[in-house]
Amino acid sequence: MNNISAENETSLLVIYTGGTIGMVKDPGTGSLTPIDFNHINEHVPILDKLRYRISHHCFDPPIDSSEVKPAFWQQLATVIGENYSRYDGFVVLHGTDTMSYTASALSFMLENLNKPVILTGSQLPMGVIRSDGRENFLSSLEIAAMQVDGTPLVPEVAIFFENQLFRGNRSTKFNAENFHAFVSENYPVLAEAGVHIRFNHAYIRKPNFRNLRVHSALGEEVAILKLFPGISHAVVASLLHSPGLRGLILETFGAGNAPTDDWFIRELQQAIERGLVICNVTQCKGGAVDMGRYASSLPLERIGVISGYDITTESAVTKLMHLFGQGYDAGKVKELFTLPLRGEITK
Ligand code: ASP
Repeated sequence: MNNISAENETSLLVIYTGGTIGMVKDPGTGSLTPIDFNHINEHVPILDKLRYRISHHCFDPPIDSSEVKPAFWQQLATVIGENYSRYDGFVVLHGTDTMSYTASALSFMLENLNKPVILTGSQLPMGVIRSDGRENFLSSLEIAAMQVDGTPLVPEVAIFFENQLFRGNRSTKFNAENFHAFVSENYPVLAEAGVHIRFNHAYIRKPNFRNLRVHSALGEEVAILKLFPGISHAVVASLLHSPGLRGLILETFGAGNAPTDDWFIRELQQAIERGLVICNVTQCKGGAVDMGRYASSLPLERIGVISGYDITTESAVTKLMHLFGQGYDAGKVKELFTLPLRGEITK
């Protein structure tokens, strides 16, 4: 029988990066602005009573997550890397807007992660009576502290939001208003919190007990092209000829389908011949790219567009950044992109 517990001596590092969860209304302008994390105990007094040893690290200044850039991910991965041996788990307080991008990026940057990195945030600021922030925060701490026979229960980058725990690189923000703001259509939730927190053990990554490797380098020469009916030649051509561009996520329709106009296929083919890596990712939140299922995806397959299978756009773009950051050439990037590196695709 496995002994699931969160021991008294469990140590957690809370990393406060900003976002609504730590915001207050500016009395002057009436708009939401970040507060100093030290004030968070005023809004969650029960924090003082928790039996874990909790330390915190605050980003200065805290940011709205729409300001997130690769340099922010490098800073976050470095904080986790430098504190890795001193804590049993990490809780990252983060704005919801780009939380899935950050969770995806971290999953690639933190190879051999054997401890929980739980991202959470809220739709309403912690200071507001009906805030979802307290619940999200407290459950995230609990999940980050949980162990089975002395081994962390969730040794991966995950997002906890509105009673659900998602694999970070499978999640996506789909609602700007509801408390139920994230989905993971192509991968089951890792846990569901009710009276008890019920873990979906079969879907949680197993620890590999190797040493953590932090891959800080990210290649930023990537772009996303979302197709829409009527997209013009000029728009497609200008993006494909962007100076320095090395990788493109082509957001296609349905099961990876796209227009078959000669100019469109020719532009993509010439870009691939110039060395661009083009990945086919569906605009749908659920399901997978299946090039060849419809005639409208056959030309893409023929010219060497690679399949993203059931990957999210957030995961695809950060995976490309990670792979280019490793210094791989286009051939190696294509090969690794189609493999599940951190459980981000089903194959
Ligand atoms: N704009 C905020 C952010 O992403 C929204 C939130 O925190 O949920 O930082």
